[in-house]
Amino acid sequence: MALPDRCPLCSAGRESQSVVTRHVYGDASVSRAFFHCAACDVRYQFPGLTPEEEARFYAAEFEGFMASRSGESGGWLKTEQHLVANEPTRMRRMKYLAPYLKQSVDILEVGCSSGFMLYPLAAAGHRCTGIEPSGVFSEFVRGRGIPVYQSVAELQRDVPDARFDLILHFFVLEHIADPGAFLMAQLAMLKPGGRIVFEIPNAADPLYSVYDIPAFERFYWSVAHPWYFSEPSLQFLLTRLGESSEVLRDQRYDLSNHMIWARDGRPGGMGRFAPELGADVEESYKQSLIRSGKCDTLVGIIKKDGGT
Ligand SMILES: [Zn+2]
Repeated sequence: MALPDRCPLCSAGRESQSVVTRHVYGDASVSRAFFHCAACDVRYQFPGLTPEEEARFYAAEFEGFMASRSGESGGWLKTEQHLVANEPTRMRRMKYLAPYLKQSVDILEVGCSSGFMLYPLAAAGHRCTGIEPSGVFSEFVRGRGIPVYQSVAELQRDVPDARFDLILHFFVLEHIADPGAFLMAQLAMLKPGGRIVFEIPNAADPLYSVYDIPAFERFYWSVAHPWYFSEPSLQFLLTRLGESSEVLRDQRYDLSNHMIWARDGRPGGMGRFAPELGADVEESYKQSLIRSGKCDTLVGIIKKDGGT
């Protein structure tokens, strides 16, 4: 097994690096592992995908890969179903986006997939733009009247002076080889006082950090993710950008999903026992995980200096 010489985030030496797992979901080469850096608390894949492997991966495998991971209810392949399946996700995110939407603003979503976040925002009078590498999704979104570019580089080439009040990305940063450069490029496209708001998986996911379910351990550490951030490591990354930032906690998956993981060792249990458990139990369960910090999602908010 190849060993890293230093942490790719904070550069701490070999003595601070240890193996998290050699179970890398989707790694056909079986040559990779995930490591933990004791200095900054980040987890990272080593060795990472080469640019060629990464391009091949995203061109062909990504949608089928996600469909196979999302269980029977994800609806990834059928775009219309994707909108419906993601309505609870959209509503959950609107809780923390609402403060930045009090007037009409310019919004960019990087990795907008089917566009499910953007249609209601456009209908409410905001000016929306998407970045989406998948041809299936980008054509669908364009067909619904929202401009879409294949990459940030293409947007910057076609509209060099494009500036936004709000740049969003959800479960994208953990896929990016150089997350610092990715965020700096977005800061350059923000208006003064504008914000970047994003979600990533929390490395302290309770299925791993509380219940330690073996089947989950073999599923969670994905070849598609160079990084798994915790609250301290995400704060480390954001502080280096030199703007003000905060990290919030959230919990996406419910008690039913966790019970099915514990019982059957697989995903796909969302909402399964909701009629018997009731909404108050589900909500209280999520809030307990959020309070403990052992929750499945982190929300990063970066504010560019200036403005109001
Ligand atoms: Zn480190």
